Amino acid sequence: MEPTILDEITWRIDRSQLMQQLGIKEGESYAQKAEEMAAQAEEAGRPKAIYKAGLIEARGEDHVVIEGLTFKSRVLAVNLEKVHRVFPFVATCGAELEEWSSRFTSVLDKFWADTIKGMALGASILALLEQIEAEHHPGNLSMMNPGSIESWSLSEQRALFSLLGTPEDSIGVQLMESCFMKPSMSTSGMWFPTEHHFENCMLCPMENCPGRRAPYDKDLYDREYKKGEPH
Ligand code: SF4
Repeated sequence: MEPTILDEITWRIDRSQLMQQLGIKEGESYAQKAEEMAAQAEEAGRPKAIYKAGLIEARGEDHVVIEGLTFKSRVLAVNLEKVHRVFPFVATCGAELEEWSSRFTSVLDKFWADTIKGMALGASILALLEQIEAEHHPGNLSMMNPGSIESWSLSEQRALFSLLGTPEDSIGVQLMESCFMKPSMSTSGMWFPTEHHFENCMLCPMENCPGRRAPYDKDLYDREYKKGEPH
């Protein structure tokens, strides 16, 4: 199946959410500047995403094969045990917003621009999810991302990008030698249907992470994923 490209995502920055994330209270002098930056970003920004529906062709204890490409991860293999179709994707705030943000040099301005880029990325992820749900009716979805947990190496980005063709040409996301992406406010991974909601954070012990979406469960790996044990 050919990838689907979303490059005309309608987005708008929720001002009250922005002010809250920037720690600006109503009427403060900083509010006008934040408003100006938000208006500029909305004008310049073109968040984008690419995804496809991929069939699992083969599987083992530590890997799955999708369209001839092998993805190695014990956690991914277990999470996909009962799954036949996955939705690999890359989503980004877009190169246009990356270019816009490069003009800012102070720590504060960079933080504000990064916050705005994060909101653009959120808009692209939401649009992608809505598109997948409308096109494929997959039911409840969970997501895994290469590099987010020990069990799925960041180097697996290479196979993920290969699966999606050329995300650099289609949505302007470059996979660097390090396997990080440019623009940096981009994300990649696989959505998969599941009755048991999964979050990478459940297997991640990082303390004080502002992005945490679920509590760390220190026994989860041994309980569900350790080789040779029933799960
Ligand atoms: S806790 Fe933070 S670093 Fe760990 S997987 Fe969740 S979002 Fe990522």
